[in-house]
Amino acid sequence: MAKKIMLSGDRPTGKLHIGHYVGSLRGRYAIQEEGKYESFIMIADQQALTDNARNPEKIRKSLLEVTMDYLAVGIDPAKTTIFVQSQIPELNELTMHYLNLVTVARLERNPTIKEEIKLRGFSESIPAGFLIYPVSQTADITAFKAELIPVGEDQLPMIEQTREIVRSFNNTYGSILVEPQAKIPEDACKRLPGIDGKAKMSKSLGNAIYLADSADTIKEKVMQMYTDPDHIKVSDPGKIAGNTVFTYLDAFGKDKEYIAELKLQYQKGGLGDVKVKRYLNEVLQAEFAPIRERREKLANNKDYLYQVLQEGSRKAEAIAAKTLTEVRAAIGLNYFD
Ligand code: ATP
Ligand code: MG
Repeated sequence: MAKKIMLSGDRPTGKLHIGHYVGSLRGRYAIQEEGKYESFIMIADQQALTDNARNPEKIRKSLLEVTMDYLAVGIDPAKTTIFVQSQIPELNELTMHYLNLVTVARLERNPTIKEEIKLRGFSESIPAGFLIYPVSQTADITAFKAELIPVGEDQLPMIEQTREIVRSFNNTYGSILVEPQAKIPEDACKRLPGIDGKAKMSKSLGNAIYLADSADTIKEKVMQMYTDPDHIKVSDPGKIAGNTVFTYLDAFGKDKEYIAELKLQYQKGGLGDVKVKRYLNEVLQAEFAPIRERREKLANNKDYLYQVLQEGSRKAEAIAAKTLTEVRAAIGLNYFD
């Protein structure tokens, strides 16, 4: 019996951050090690271009950064196929076929797209490619007949839209495509806020702690983190909800009992922000020092990184080509077979 497929990915718009780590990378690593699924990870460079068309150099540079992040957290090219979206032209043709099955109104209703349009200040000048990127994600997922998609919460509307397109395709042309299932992490990790307390840590918002950050940078960022603005004196009672430092402790801390104690004390009053931040700093340093060290070693080996991506992309293209042949036949575009 062939294994079921896991597919996940990231936009190469910068280095990956600790939000990616708890929201998705850590889960992908666990799935890889468990070995129940065959793992694919895609670097979505074409998707990244949908809102960076005039800055291709950023995407090109970030490709290797993201690759280093993967290998540093333990993604192993011998176990997981890492590939580059733009190197699989079959995905574009799949996108074109699926675009006919979705309305512009439905795309405009996608809550993630709506939020991202606001964040990026597109208002009326939305690049058409950006609006349709959920359809291109559908192509990515279905090309591999992926069943499991480990993602952060912001991606749930994307998976829902994919499922709709799959159903529509299968009803129209015959059951070729597989409906995927999203897998989101536990609550504290679904959508890690930025150090500024904003809803989401994001490469594009400048509020991230990166996997590549030095020990000093991590410490600095922790010390400037958003807490409870009404907690002014140490003796003041403080709030836990919406307090970024505690959200991070929930996401990264292993000593849950100690964290529960800290929370009680903070709520009662008498525990200062600096003390909690020092503890969070220790937790983060312990988790990310080994990852940073592995990453530093990879940075000198560009050829190896490109080789991993090229081999992965070759393997991925063979699979996507097979699905595209099936899709063409299902629609009836196989005139000369
Ligand atoms: P961009 O701002 O360029 O969109 P991003 O930081 O949102 O970058 P993506 O490449 O869009 O990162 O997301 C990759 C994966 O990481 C997705 O599965 C997404 O849900 C997850 N993810 C991103 N940011 C967070 C976060 N702050 N918390 C949890 N998961 C996250
Ligand atoms: Mg994003």
